[in-house]
Amino acid sequence: MATHIESGLKNIVVAVKQVPDTNQVRIDPETGTLIREGVPFIVNPFDTHALEAGLQMKDRFGGQVIALSMGPPNTVMTLRKCLALGADQAILISDRMFGGADTLATSYVLTEAVKRIERENGRIDLIFCGKQTIDGDTAQVGPGLATRLGFAQLTLVDQIIDFSKESRTITVRRKLEGRKEIVQTQLPALLTVVREGNKPRYPTVPSRLGAETAEVTVWNNDVLKLAPELIGLRGSPTNVKRIFAPERKMGEILGDGEKDPRGAVQLLVQKLVERDLLSF
Ligand SMILES: Cc1cc2nc3c(=O)[nH]c(=O)nc-3n(C[C@H](O)[C@H](O)[C@H](O)COP(=O)(O)OP(=O)(O)OC[C@H]3O[C@@H](n4cnc5c(N)ncnc54)[C@H](O)[C@@H]3O)c2cc1C
Repeated sequence: MATHIESGLKNIVVAVKQVPDTNQVRIDPETGTLIREGVPFIVNPFDTHALEAGLQMKDRFGGQVIALSMGPPNTVMTLRKCLALGADQAILISDRMFGGADTLATSYVLTEAVKRIERENGRIDLIFCGKQTIDGDTAQVGPGLATRLGFAQLTLVDQIIDFSKESRTITVRRKLEGRKEIVQTQLPALLTVVREGNKPRYPTVPSRLGAETAEVTVWNNDVLKLAPELIGLRGSPTNVKRIFAPERKMGEILGDGEKDPRGAVQLLVQKLVERDLLSF
């Protein structure tokens, strides 16, 4: 049930992408594309943490959580999972015209959807995205969305430290390579989250059952009315030329670590010294 604590949060949008379960993904050696037939789909793992972050903000500061996804019609299943976990609304952007989108076209369509959500629901305070997806892996959609909307963008967030209703600022910790950074910004803001930030909750049996029949709003391009040259393949200047798994060299086994660990370590040290990777 959505609540609106005065001066708290009003609308929190969480962008979720449905992705193939990468444990089961194979690449067609002829075409170099992903074989998607028969592959089970899952919610992009980073997006489960984005949803949890959004739900925690709602639990503490009110507002409603709206899960938003662009994808094929079966993405309804992904959005039902979000509803089972506590999202108040779910919106699917789906139309053949949106297919084949690169990150530029994806962020454009999602931006227009967010603007429509705002027109229908009022102010949007926060948008949560995953850090990246496990299929496209570009990590561009969140920043693209923030830039187009003119929202402050806080990427790689692993902790939400504080939200002030009075100053309408949010303070977060960013997980960077080798260091952490604490930053504060004014709302509205878009956050991309890493996995370490929270532990996604499990749906309850009643919420799961309720979500089975809950409404998922579907917007096609008759609803969004976006120019064909800005969406889908036509609106995508980037395309993937080739996908391939890099060849792996066989590893070298040095000595017999079980029978003679000391000898194996000596051989390893010798190799490292030879390659100038270890100096004394
Ligand atoms: C193997 C592969 C390689 C690709 N390489 C490229 C490439 O090099 N350049 C390029 O422009 N496109 C590429 N694409 C296309 C690209 O994945 C998608 O078209 C789309 O733009 C999303 O990009 P992403 O998956 O990299 O998302 P990311 O930018 O990694 O996603 C970050 C976050 O944005 C949100 N998000 C992303 N997509 C959606 C969505 N559809 N609905 C709701 N929220 C979403 C999620 O919160 C997600 O965690 C590739 C696709 C595949 C399968």
